[in-house]
Amino acid sequence: MPSSIPHGSRLAPAPWTTADLAKPPPYELIWEAVLAQRCPGQAKGSPKPHDLTTVTAKLIQVLTSRRFSEADRQGRFHQVLSELQEATPNLREPNFKRLAEPELEFLYRAIDRHFLDSTIAKAIAAGQHSLSFRISRRMTSTGGCTTSRFHPKHGQGTFQIAIAAQLLAQTWANREQATVCGVTCHDMREGLCRIMEHELLHLCEMLVWKDSSCAQSRFKSMAQRLFGHRASKHHLLTNREAAALQHNLRPGDRVCFPFEGQQLLGTINRIHKRATVLVPDTRGQAYSDGSRYLKYYVPLRNLVKWPG
Ligand SMILES: [Zn+2]
Repeated sequence: MPSSIPHGSRLAPAPWTTADLAKPPPYELIWEAVLAQRCPGQAKGSPKPHDLTTVTAKLIQVLTSRRFSEADRQGRFHQVLSELQEATPNLREPNFKRLAEPELEFLYRAIDRHFLDSTIAKAIAAGQHSLSFRISRRMTSTGGCTTSRFHPKHGQGTFQIAIAAQLLAQTWANREQATVCGVTCHDMREGLCRIMEHELLHLCEMLVWKDSSCAQSRFKSMAQRLFGHRASKHHLLTNREAAALQHNLRPGDRVCFPFEGQQLLGTINRIHKRATVLVPDTRGQAYSDGSRYLKYYVPLRNLVKWPG
């Protein structure tokens, strides 16, 4: 069972089919999960099994049976946006310049309150789990990632939700709207909300069933009924796509760049935040084409495309 479940991709998602969403909730799994939560271990200060069972059963009930009308869902979504706008200085602007961990926590609590009756927060408290948030600068193609770790004896979970703010920023620097989780988002704030909704469902599945997959029908059903999602992936611009748009650069392009007083000529091998450029050099590493190259990490703004 993987402890980390990255997802999201630059690839166009296949929209969910009605067959994906029509499957009934797996009730046998629900009650297995409730029963499993009755015995969380013998940790000092463990919650009473009765409390934990009640809270878990409520969370499962919300996850498996709650369905909002489109109008109700839209109303709740706009309430979350409006609270976010009022309470978090960085997020007053729809296309914000900064994002911090406390704002992610605020967003989680607002979504939990408006869509799930705060059942996530209650389940975390009852199970004595911990949840933290992180802005990731290393995730270059996934919008969000939720990880879990469970104490081997006592069962308490340590969960973390990471959000790739850079992907949102570079998408709205180049476009006016983007599709996230199958829903059209008109600004970064909306995109952030959709990513958080998706990650919170991963968190819910981990809390209740210990593992999670947004490729499975249970996840798709919850995401559609609660949030109106129609896909698990996003169309945010990756670094490579943003570079192609902003600088007209792609892997395989011949480029020159300044280095220690001279101009070097090479080929772009990869693009992340910077480009990896391979420059022919007998001192370098041998590659499969039989030549040797030195590898340089070059800011995109320093590269000039070489004609031809
Ligand atoms: Zn996912």
